[in-house]
Amino acid sequence: MAQAKIPEAIARLFGRAWVCRRCKKTIRGDAKKIREGAIPCKRCGQRAFRPKSKEKRLKVSAAK
Ligand SMILES: [Zn+2]
Repeated sequence: MAQAKIPEAIARLFGRAWVCRRCKKTIRGDAKKIREGAIPCKRCGQRAFRPKSKEKRLKVSAAK
């Protein structure tokens, strides 16, 4: 596993990663463009994303 204790590394890995709310496809894009809806999901085409973070990823994986 990655040694994700470095804030810069966490920001690089997760700061621009987003997860589609419909199909859970992970995409990468600037937060500004995501909020503006400039980037549709590459799989299902809708534009609602949540930020991908370590905590949320752990919660999602634990819930399912
Ligand atoms: Zn999608």
